[in-house]
Amino acid sequence: MSKIAVLAGDGIGPEIIAEGLKVLHAVASKHSLTLEFTEALVGGAAYDATGHPLPPETLTLVQQSDAVFFGAVGGPKYDAIPDPNLRPERGALLPLRQKMGLYANLRPCVLYSSLAAACPLRPDLVEGGFDILVVRELTGGLYFGQPKLWEGDRAVDTCVYTREEITRIAHVAFKAAQKRDRRLLSVDKANVLETSRLWRETVTQVSQDYPHVALTHQLVDATAMDLVRRPQSFDVIVTENLFGDILSDEAAQLTGSLGMLPSASLGSGTFGLYEPSHGSAPDITGTGKANPLATILSAALLLRYSLGAEEAARDIESAVTHVLQGGFRTSDIMEDQNCNHVTCRQMGDLVAGAIMRDNDAPG
Ligand code: NAD
Repeated sequence: MSKIAVLAGDGIGPEIIAEGLKVLHAVASKHSLTLEFTEALVGGAAYDATGHPLPPETLTLVQQSDAVFFGAVGGPKYDAIPDPNLRPERGALLPLRQKMGLYANLRPCVLYSSLAAACPLRPDLVEGGFDILVVRELTGGLYFGQPKLWEGDRAVDTCVYTREEITRIAHVAFKAAQKRDRRLLSVDKANVLETSRLWRETVTQVSQDYPHVALTHQLVDATAMDLVRRPQSFDVIVTENLFGDILSDEAAQLTGSLGMLPSASLGSGTFGLYEPSHGSAPDITGTGKANPLATILSAALLLRYSLGAEEAARDIESAVTHVLQGGFRTSDIMEDQNCNHVTCRQMGDLVAGAIMRDNDAPG
């Protein structure tokens, strides 16, 4: 029995999580997996109910679970909370990552060939699609380094990395690259930053454990350019927290929509937190326009990384590919009128249906 904490959160969170659960139930029944789901409050919803975005009972549930299936948190209503530590992202998501030791954020950025027209780049640059995995260090760097302060006309953020922090994320990235095309690009700013010089030296040292993975280094500004110039040249990218945040959003845009991008946050064991890369999308909440595929693909990552259920994970991914090939699109990926427009719920039904029918014709 695998225990999964379900934290839907705010905005479109509950809508997309409902579709993710629908798909998980379908795949669990097909593959005879025993999954126990327990829901808890997080983010603005938790703040409204308890006065804190990460109540102790939610944290306890998470600590007793094998994985967390997370929707999204935040919204305009909560931006005005005076104490920044009680705002949904800073008060719930960041502490969850830190308390659970989730130092590695994996973001697969895949352009499906059937969605190539949704990519903002010239068609000849992305013909046939691409498949990039961004591995972002999640608990160090500028986001957490001390001192961090704002005094009148002066503000300070501090970037700190230790050799140990870099070593462990480098191992995650090399292991991921070993299972893919065995090419790892380490991204830094070693011409300017001391933390980047340590980063480069450490990643190079770790590479000795992975002789079959080709390691290259690149400055972050050059990587930002190459992502839009030749996205098909990448396999796995590993980088520190801030650069990873920016580069993964850039790569995300190339896949057509934030609504397509899953993510996994992992620590040293098999525990992980799985969530779409996007936020709570208050502008489309309750309209049926939310694309649940990022959440559904995050469910596949949960099965792969926390439960070791690779076949079930692939089943979800091929069902998604199949439904897209069938021309079904939520509003955000509607590239032309020949596609079949579907709502969030209909998209979940299609993917769950394709799983149950072994990916025969959807719809
Ligand atoms: P956002 O990702 O919520 O939305 C950006 C744009 O993408 C919006 O136009 C939205 O409609 C669209 N979009 C996002 N997800 C979509 C989906 N699944 N299907 C279709 N369209 C989708 O980012 P934002 O507007 O900057 O932030 C909104 C709130 O979410 C803020 O309160 C922010 O703090 C929070 N946020 C939370 C997380 C998280 O929970 N991990 C991450 C980022 C932002």
